[in-house]
Amino acid sequence: MAFLSSTAPALLQHRHPLRLRRPTALRAPHRPPRPVLGGPPASSAARRRFTMVTTTPSKQPTPSSTAVSTYDVVVIGGGPAGLSLAAGLGVRGLTVLCADLTLNKPWPNNYGTWLDELEPLALDDCTSHQWPRAAAYVHSDPRKSTLNRPYARVDRHAMKRRFLQRCHDCHNVTVVHAAAELLDTTSSHQYTYVSLNVLSSDPSDPVPTTVAGSVVVDATGHNLRFVKFRQGKAPGFQAAYGIECVVSDKSYPYATDEMLLMDFRNDHMRDSPTDFQQSLDQPTFLYVMPLDDGEGRLVFFEETSLVASPAMDFDQLKARLYKRLAYNGIEVESVLDEEFCLIPMGGPMPDLRQRVVAFGGAAALVHPATGYMIARALKLADDAAEIIMQEMRHDTDADSTAHRIWDRIWNQGRQRQRDFFNFGGEYLATIDLHTTREFFSAFFQLPTRQWADFLSFRLVQPIQRLTFGLGVFARTSNRVRFTLMWDALVKGRLPLLLSVLPISDPNYEE
Ligand SMILES: Cc1cc2nc3c(=O)[nH]c(=O)nc-3n(C[C@H](O)[C@H](O)[C@H](O)COP(=O)(O)OP(=O)(O)OC[C@H]3O[C@@H](n4cnc5c(N)ncnc54)[C@H](O)[C@@H]3O)c2cc1C
Repeated sequence: MAFLSSTAPALLQHRHPLRLRRPTALRAPHRPPRPVLGGPPASSAARRRFTMVTTTPSKQPTPSSTAVSTYDVVVIGGGPAGLSLAAGLGVRGLTVLCADLTLNKPWPNNYGTWLDELEPLALDDCTSHQWPRAAAYVHSDPRKSTLNRPYARVDRHAMKRRFLQRCHDCHNVTVVHAAAELLDTTSSHQYTYVSLNVLSSDPSDPVPTTVAGSVVVDATGHNLRFVKFRQGKAPGFQAAYGIECVVSDKSYPYATDEMLLMDFRNDHMRDSPTDFQQSLDQPTFLYVMPLDDGEGRLVFFEETSLVASPAMDFDQLKARLYKRLAYNGIEVESVLDEEFCLIPMGGPMPDLRQRVVAFGGAAALVHPATGYMIARALKLADDAAEIIMQEMRHDTDADSTAHRIWDRIWNQGRQRQRDFFNFGGEYLATIDLHTTREFFSAFFQLPTRQWADFLSFRLVQPIQRLTFGLGVFARTSNRVRFTLMWDALVKGRLPLLLSVLPISDPNYEE
């Protein structure tokens, strides 16, 4: 599907008294044209091809005018965050333009997540595989921890289709294959102008155009194309190299009916003292999804550096993966796909006093200690859409509206929750393999609810975070206790303390 175009539905129009009900044509600002707005003049043929970005034909811009189409919200990026937010906004009666650079392609990443996070969102049918449980090897010996929590691989094609369909069905969202090039946040108090190169007709012949949004959301992922971040500590990175492959018959050594969340054993590195020492200093683990319902021939293997700063390089991860597979007697017959995964984790927060709002990877929603995000973004999309709709009801300028949206998406409660997970990520980035194993050994001895809440970015209340921390502390080794205490004093300090004290924001929304 190249794009979806729709007209504003009569049904939804009376539900919310918004300033803008439908995209309207708006004169471009009177100032001399700024490069951000103008771009190279489009030919009239090119302009005719731009019809897909308007949802109300009577108000389309004409080739002879400089009018631009306006929307309540322009969402830049059509990944999981952008499309789920656009659909949530559309069902609330807001007019939305969602511009995506790669609309003509599937989402590139292979997402794994816990099934219990998709079920409440009625998205558990958008999975290609489900496993009734997961497993972890968090000791140096073959002791296995069984994690009785079903896991799933997202069917990225089905989920993308689902959200495109939701956008289409609400009749308020136009999804267009286009690259946002520049934003103009200064020419108007009311609108932000977005200059786009529309690619729908012919990607090699982009059609420049401009649209305006009362709110503009950057959902371009980790590129941070438009949103600004505060200064501060550099983020950590999860780096992983993965292959989807066919392995020879009977060479798959793990259980075929469960997924392997982490195998932290490093016996395969013992043949070289240098490699062995490196594996202790810079721990990596194997993540495995058997994909053929019990045969153990079609498998996704990924060697993962959980969090490190700077990121571990892909060549090193690839070498470690093949060494581990060979040591385990796994013969790879053919590689069907490769994944190079690099996820920024933690680091500074977005600047909450900017005109451009962000969502998803661009809004630092990634779990700072695990790299997971998709389920959280899909869940928060509805909340964020509600917040945007409510804040647009106040008739204020675009800056104030954006600031209020930011303050509610990243309210104090969520910031404190993130501070806690940030501490976890920074701690995990510095400890060696022995300490990492001892930490996860205690972690998976916690009641399932507690470790699940940690992995799924919950632990919403400070008391839950405190209980979690004390639970790990009580079950773990002295080495972990000492390093945790040291890091808490030296790195965690006040933000960590505030994250576990029961003084959270009364307006916290989750
Ligand atoms: C390789 C990889 C694997 C991951 N695996 C998992 C996982 O298993 N589980 C999990 O929970 N999380 C995972 N994550 C983390 C996170 O969930 C993903 O990064 C997720 O895709 C972020 O979603 P998003 O919509 O914010 O950004 P993205 O998915 O990156 O989508 C951004 C979209 O914006 C578009 N875009 C970019 N620039 C422009 C522009 N100028 N104009 C218009 N469009 C633009 C892009 O084409 C893209 O479609 C993974 C991340 C990576 C990188």
